[in-house]
Amino acid sequence: MTRVTCYGGVNEIGGNKVLVEDGDARIWLDMGQSFGFGSEYFGEFLDFRSRFGLRDYFALNLLPRLPGLYSAEWLEGARFDYEPARFSAVFISHIHFDHTNHLKFLDPKIPVHMGEGTKIMLESWEETGRFNLEEHDYRTFRTGRRIRVDGVEVTPVHVDHSAPAAYGFLLNTEAGTIAYTGDLRQHGPHAEMTREFIEAAAREKPVALITEGTRVAPKDPRQSSSEADVRDKSIDTAGRSKGKLVIATFYPRDVDRMRTFLEVAKAVERKYVLQSKAAHLLLSLRRDARISVPDVLRDHDILVYDRRFDKQPSWESDLFRQLGDRVVTSDDVNRHQSDYLLQLDFWTLNELIDIQPAPGTTFIHSKSEPIEEDDEVERILRNWVRFCKLRRYQYHASGHMSEAEVGDMVRTIAPKVVIPVHTEHPERFTRFSPRVIQPVRETPIPLT
Ligand SMILES: [Zn+2]
Repeated sequence: MTRVTCYGGVNEIGGNKVLVEDGDARIWLDMGQSFGFGSEYFGEFLDFRSRFGLRDYFALNLLPRLPGLYSAEWLEGARFDYEPARFSAVFISHIHFDHTNHLKFLDPKIPVHMGEGTKIMLESWEETGRFNLEEHDYRTFRTGRRIRVDGVEVTPVHVDHSAPAAYGFLLNTEAGTIAYTGDLRQHGPHAEMTREFIEAAAREKPVALITEGTRVAPKDPRQSSSEADVRDKSIDTAGRSKGKLVIATFYPRDVDRMRTFLEVAKAVERKYVLQSKAAHLLLSLRRDARISVPDVLRDHDILVYDRRFDKQPSWESDLFRQLGDRVVTSDDVNRHQSDYLLQLDFWTLNELIDIQPAPGTTFIHSKSEPIEEDDEVERILRNWVRFCKLRRYQYHASGHMSEAEVGDMVRTIAPKVVIPVHTEHPERFTRFSPRVIQPVRETPIPLT
C-alpha cells in the first residue's frame, strides 16, 4: 500500500509537509512552516507558551499529533507522550523556511537529507543570525545520487529556484514513481536544471506528481520577468542615478540576485556594498564548487558594511579581518554616495538615519510586490521611503513557474494523478490534467 498524506501546503502557498508511506518506509518531503503560522491566535506580544513545549500547537490544531515524530524536549509539558522515532527520513527540497522551519520540532534521530549547498547555507545562517533548526542527523546529497530509505529509492534532481541548491525528488515506490517538484522556475539563470528535472520525471512515467502551483491563480500578481531583465533594468536605472546613492533590497538567501546586483554595480562603475551576513553566506558557499558565487575575498568591487555593533560577534570580526580596508561604515557611504550600490534589507533600514541619502536617491525593491493590503513590512518600508524621499523602483524575477509553464510541465510529465500543493488554487489544475486529486489536510491519498 502506497499513500501520500499532506500535513501542510494544502490550499496555501508554502508550509509543505508531505508524508509518503510505502511498505516500511515513511518519508517526509519537506518540513515547512506556513506563512502566517499561528497568526490567527498570536501576535503583538501574545505568543505560544514555549515552556509547555508543543502543548499550545497541538491544542490549537496547528501541528499534527503524530507519535514518533517530535523530539522529547518539545514534548515535555505538551501532554503528549514521547515515543521513539517512527519515520524513516525527511528530504528537504531547499532552504526556504516554508520548507524547513518545523525541522526544529523533530526527533533528532530521524535522518534529514538535504543538498550540500543547503547545509552550507544553513550553517552560515545559524552562525550569523537567530535562525536555528536545532541538532539533527544531517546527510547531504548531490543531484542524481540515489538514496535508499527502508526499501524506497529517492533520487534528488536539481531545479532552479530563488535559493541555490534547490531540488525535486523522484521516489520509486511499489505503486510506481512519485515525483515531487519542490519549488521551481523556468525563467531563471539555471533553467536547464528545471528542464532536467522535468525530463527525468517524464522518463519515469510517474504514478503521481506532487507539484507546486504558487502562480497557478486566476490573477497572477508576480511578474514574468527574468533575472536578466532585473539586471538590465537595474543597470539602466543605476546609470541614470548620477551623483546619488543606489540602494537595492532583495531576499537575503537569493544568491542569484546578489550576483545580479554585483553585475549592475560593475556595469555602472560603482562599488558593491554588502551587509555582513550576505558576505558571510557568499564566503561559506565557496566551499561548494558547483555553486558559482561572487568572490568576496578577491573581488575588489565588493565592500562590506559595518553596522558598528558594540559587541561584535566573532564571525563578523573574522570576516572584517579578512577584508582589510574593504569594510565601510555609514560615514563612508554618506560621504561617497555616488560611488556605491548599497544592499540594504528591511532589518537594516535604520542605517538610513546615518547614511542620510540625498533626496531622490534610487531605491530598487527587488522582491515580490506585497500581496496583502495590510502588509506590516510594506507599511514600514513605505514610511522610510517617504521619510528619506527615495525614488522607488520595482524589479523582480519570481522563484516560481507561471501557470502556463506549470501546465506544460504537467502535460510533459503526464503522471497518472496530479496532487497540487503550495497553491491557493488546486482546482485550476484540472486544466492541465484530467486526473487531479485535491489534497485534504491530514487525509491519506491511496495510490494502489
Ligand atoms: Zn516555498
